[in-house]
Amino acid sequence: MALAFRNVGHSFGDHRVLSGVSLEARQGEILCLLGPSGSGKTTLLRLAAGLEALQEGSIDLGGALLAAPGRDVPPEKRSFGMVFQDHALFPHLTVAENVAFGLAGRPKEQARQVVAERLASVGLAGFEDRYPHTLSGGQQQRVALARALAPSPAAMLLDEPFASVDVTRRRALREEARRALKAAGVITLVVTHDPVEAMEIADRIAVMEKGRIAQCATPEELYARPASALVASLFGEAQ
Ligand code: ADP
Repeated sequence: MALAFRNVGHSFGDHRVLSGVSLEARQGEILCLLGPSGSGKTTLLRLAAGLEALQEGSIDLGGALLAAPGRDVPPEKRSFGMVFQDHALFPHLTVAENVAFGLAGRPKEQARQVVAERLASVGLAGFEDRYPHTLSGGQQQRVALARALAPSPAAMLLDEPFASVDVTRRRALREEARRALKAAGVITLVVTHDPVEAMEIADRIAVMEKGRIAQCATPEELYARPASALVASLFGEAQ
């Protein structure tokens, strides 16, 4: 299973923001989209999610077409879990009810068990009856991760998921998130502008520069053999 972008291009009016992007995120892999602000990372993620109509190229999941020009599978049919910078938990629902949100229609006992397992996988066993406002920002983001993972999505799409979390807690949160995502074995795409974050969480990193993939490789390869000045500068800074 893989999430594959083939020759994807995108423009907003006459502003071209993606050109010839080909990329494959594999089952069980955490792939980071890393690049400066405006390089097209979020647009690529939104195209994968179906939040923008595809203009050029195609996107498929495990060989099934998700998007091509004029042929977009609607977002709710893509089986993706999403986590954004602002966790957007439902404030009036408990942690358990938040995590169970995507499990509507499952037998109650089965849903309860999935909720417990997902909360445990992000280190929040026993937090079921708490309300979001009683949790730290990092804990809320872990609930958001558990909620996105609960329906066992084929892929997870994360956009700057740690950006609103206190800097001192970010590293622990990244480790927790990485563990939970690897345990779930899903395809994961993570958008970040932070090379340190990318090096810590990713199996591979796609460096984006002005709407193109400058280089896609493991953190070690990018560091040892940067293919452009931008890649070298990013990983020089990260050391
Ligand atoms: P990144 O995530 O790397 O910061 P984005 O994908 O958000 O980059 O944006 C790429 C470019 O597209 C930026 O120049 C941004 O201003 C522009 N852009 C993004 N979304 C829209 C939109 N809805 N309408 C017009 N321009 C947009």
